[in-house]
Amino acid sequence: MSDTPTPIFKDPATSLEKKTSTEIGSVFVSNYPAYSFWNDTDIEKALQAFQHPAHIDKPLGLYMHIPFCRKRCKFCYFKVYTGKNSDEIQNYLDALVRELEIYGSQHAVQHRPLKYVYFGGGTPSFISVKHLKWLVERAKDAISWDAVEEVAFECEPGTLSRSKLEAIREIGVTRLSVGVEHFNDDILKENGRAHVSKEIYRVQPWIKEIGFDQVNIDLISGMIGDNFETWKAAVEETIEFDPDSVTIYQLELPFNAVYSRHIREGEKLTVADWATKREWHSYAIDRLSEAGYMVSSAYTMVKKESSNKKFIYRDALWRGSDMLAAGVSSFGHIGGVHFQNSSRWAEYIGKVDSGQLPITRAFATSERERLIREMILQLKLGDISANYFQDKFQVDILDEFSEAYQRLQANGMLSVNDRQITLSRQGLLQVDQLLPIFYEEKYRDARYT
Ligand code: SF4
Repeated sequence: MSDTPTPIFKDPATSLEKKTSTEIGSVFVSNYPAYSFWNDTDIEKALQAFQHPAHIDKPLGLYMHIPFCRKRCKFCYFKVYTGKNSDEIQNYLDALVRELEIYGSQHAVQHRPLKYVYFGGGTPSFISVKHLKWLVERAKDAISWDAVEEVAFECEPGTLSRSKLEAIREIGVTRLSVGVEHFNDDILKENGRAHVSKEIYRVQPWIKEIGFDQVNIDLISGMIGDNFETWKAAVEETIEFDPDSVTIYQLELPFNAVYSRHIREGEKLTVADWATKREWHSYAIDRLSEAGYMVSSAYTMVKKESSNKKFIYRDALWRGSDMLAAGVSSFGHIGGVHFQNSSRWAEYIGKVDSGQLPITRAFATSERERLIREMILQLKLGDISANYFQDKFQVDILDEFSEAYQRLQANGMLSVNDRQITLSRQGLLQVDQLLPIFYEEKYRDARYT
């Protein structure tokens, strides 16, 4: 998803402390430096980066934000709209296509093959078959998809019909990610999810029959109302569903989520603490391992026998790929510059209508910031080689960050053997809470805004 916030860590010394209670604020690390450091003075640098011919061999991806949902989940912080009608959706898709046409005319994009496309949201599967086919046809006119190796698509079970799934397959989707989160109806309802379990069971045979290269299921450990028994049952249902991969997040309380507002207004909410969420997550890793899955990152397990274990979007993004960001509030990266689109509907549409890229904040990274960004994101894979960073950045990370690595090693979070850094299970389960130890001083007191 596009706009995952960066956490607050007031003091790096706290990052190794056990965070027992789940407090308001985000923990998940999706980028570096934090978004609160992005600014309008660097917008010009992003625009200039688009004007420069780029290295043709550097991977280029496209993220398309479809910001519509049936209901707003109470833990959600994404930019989503729940009441837009078909005409408004068409207006938005018109703007998306215009934005892609602007991208297609930039020097940094011309003659450069797209390697991957990611439909995120929001709920991409919310839009109709007609809208979806129209969008993809126009998008391909704007920028060629001929070299695309992966098209990933997020969906919500209650928005799927057999014909919509067929259309999703027809437009070239290779990786279908189903936002299940849990199988228990009381828990789904309590957390504001739009779907119910019978909608998950209804779509499962269609997904199998239609056949996607890869099917992923998202789960969340520690949803409000969950307990160990209901969690274990959800893990069993997941195994029964038989996806190629399972992605597990631990519930957070981002500032702008409904739950966080309720807590600030004085509502008493019982939220599983971090140790509990890690324990449940760890149980799921064990159970899924028994069922034939293996760890592919701190969040994702893939089926060992699956012929396609790759997740190109994730791996490209975590290795510093350029990515075009299309849609309201989307985040992208070009030639060393992070950028984000306007998060206001009218401003976003107005800008692309006038032929401009709708960027409202950006951040031109230094070589060191790019090194730290790649290193912390790749640590989420659970296993990195210091040699990769030596070759790419001419920096020995084991030397440069020796104190941080020694501290993490002393705390049992990772081990280092033959220049290979491997996170322990405990390290994997709380990787986002460990990463700020690598941040530069000036970025440690980061607030998500
Ligand atoms: S379906 Fe996803 S994007 Fe939509 S409100 Fe729920 S969590 Fe947010």
